[in-house]
Amino acid sequence: MGRIDISMPLFAGMPAFPGDPPFSAQRIAAVSQGDAFDLTFLSFGSHTGTHVDPPVHMLPAGLAVDRIDLDLLNGPSCVVEVAAHEQEIGVEAVARVPQGSARVLFRSPNSERWAKSLTFFPDYVGLTPAAADALVERNVRLVGIDALSIENDPGATYPVHRTLLGHGIPLLEGLLLASVRPGSYELECLPLKIRDGDGGPARAALVSP
Ligand SMILES: [Zn+2]
Repeated sequence: MGRIDISMPLFAGMPAFPGDPPFSAQRIAAVSQGDAFDLTFLSFGSHTGTHVDPPVHMLPAGLAVDRIDLDLLNGPSCVVEVAAHEQEIGVEAVARVPQGSARVLFRSPNSERWAKSLTFFPDYVGLTPAAADALVERNVRLVGIDALSIENDPGATYPVHRTLLGHGIPLLEGLLLASVRPGSYELECLPLKIRDGDGGPARAALVSP
């Protein structure tokens, strides 16, 4: 019953959403250089790698990442497979979510692509607005995806974000799910406690029941 780590490593050159600041790590003290310890200056955006989108990300009155109840981010969850031919995560995928699921993680072909090469690709699979509506109707409390954004919206109006965050549903983005079979798990997700944060990089894991 081990944990499956579903979080993305942080490294220079890691995938970043277009326009987001790149991750960088600068060694400012090093034992190999005669210092007493290693120490690194890190710089990265608040939506780097595996991370939580809290409601305030797009809605000024919404909760910030340090205010999200950890009981919402941790607990029973289901992983739902999205096949390559589906091309997007639509209402058909939501129909496969077991009734009563509080947390849903979608495992799409994005994960296979990332397993081969951990780089950004613009044609990633995302949720449709109709799927977001269907998840709200099912009273889902958290939605996760193996992409840096929950939706692939070239128009940048973000209807999926607005629907889910508007219903107080945090998003868990940038998951690596290639080694995860569809089914039921316990989700563990602890985003950095950034005060008033619009996003929080997180370590996330799944535990088989
Ligand atoms: Zn985000």
